[in-house]
Amino acid sequence: MTSESEVGMPPHPCCHDGCKTYAPFGYNTRYGTLWFCHEHKDEGEAQRIQPGFHGRT
Ligand SMILES: [Zn+2]
Repeated sequence: MTSESEVGMPPHPCCHDGCKTYAPFGYNTRYGTLWFCHEHKDEGEAQRIQPGFHGRT
């Protein structure tokens, strides 16, 4: 048997270039879900796709 995962979700490293901090903040962006630490979460908010936005076809 392998080791059990306690929460079922692997820890995400921050998507900021060069930052290896654990990133608890996930943002739905055009590139998929990006994860940022507390220090860099503004970058995720800047790229976040607004839920319910269907403007482009
Ligand atoms: Zn970071």
